[in-house]
Amino acid sequence: MNVTTGLRAAARVAGAVKEYGVGDTRVRALDGVSVEFPAARFTAIMGPSGSGKSTLMHCAAGLDTLSEGHAYLGDTELGALDDRRLTLLRRERVGFVFQAFNLVPTLTVRENITLPLDLAGRAPDQEWLADLIEVVGLGDRLGHRPSELSGGQQQRVAVARALAGRPEAVFADEPTGNLDSRTGAEVLGLLRRAVDAMGQAVVMVTHDPTAAGHADQVLFLADGRLVDTMDAPTADRVLDRMKDLDRGAGR
Ligand code: ADP
Repeated sequence: MNVTTGLRAAARVAGAVKEYGVGDTRVRALDGVSVEFPAARFTAIMGPSGSGKSTLMHCAAGLDTLSEGHAYLGDTELGALDDRRLTLLRRERVGFVFQAFNLVPTLTVRENITLPLDLAGRAPDQEWLADLIEVVGLGDRLGHRPSELSGGQQQRVAVARALAGRPEAVFADEPTGNLDSRTGAEVLGLLRRAVDAMGQAVVMVTHDPTAAGHADQVLFLADGRLVDTMDAPTADRVLDRMKDLDRGAGR
């Protein structure tokens, strides 16, 4: 599969509209968004609270469905799939990293990393797994339980778990939200390596300009619309842009 060329969109949405609720309580969380998440590229999604970042990520990752428009993982259109096929597709082609790590406390580090594969009845690619464990720097912790690890180490396990099945895209929702700046930087460095060394598409929702500074491109949302993009971002430039958006949103 052609996931490491950098040319192919690992995930994309076209004309994405998402509405919640009905009548007076209806909210248009996405209002016609078209974006691509290319392979071997690290994309950060930013914007004021309520601007639609999580909704965009969930719809692009197949965790939620669009009201209008189309979402694709690779060439597969998600709207055409029933729940069962969507679940299978997600399991095989998408990795997730959440703010709260979501590791299983009774399992070892190694068992946590291979859990999604075990659940899917897939044998891990041992070479990939060995590379991954080296990249995340957890080789001497494989027999430990999550409670014996620092927050940063736990999130590194979560990143390894997301990458274990060689998904086309990894979606990370505020992955450094629970970490101090040093351990946060470790996790961001790891996501960066997943992109550079392993050709993953990484899509990260964050409100932290420093975190976004590790990405290749930043997408800025406001009121459910894509209002700006920035290539080769730096934390300072991202911060300036965020201030403008916050002012625009009156927050
Ligand atoms: P962000 O991640 O940027 O904070 P969200 O995508 O969570 O924004 O939310 C966008 C808008 O959609 C907000 O107005 C939010 O209140 C609304 N929204 C999100 N999820 C739901 C839901 N499940 N039901 C109703 N409204 C929702």
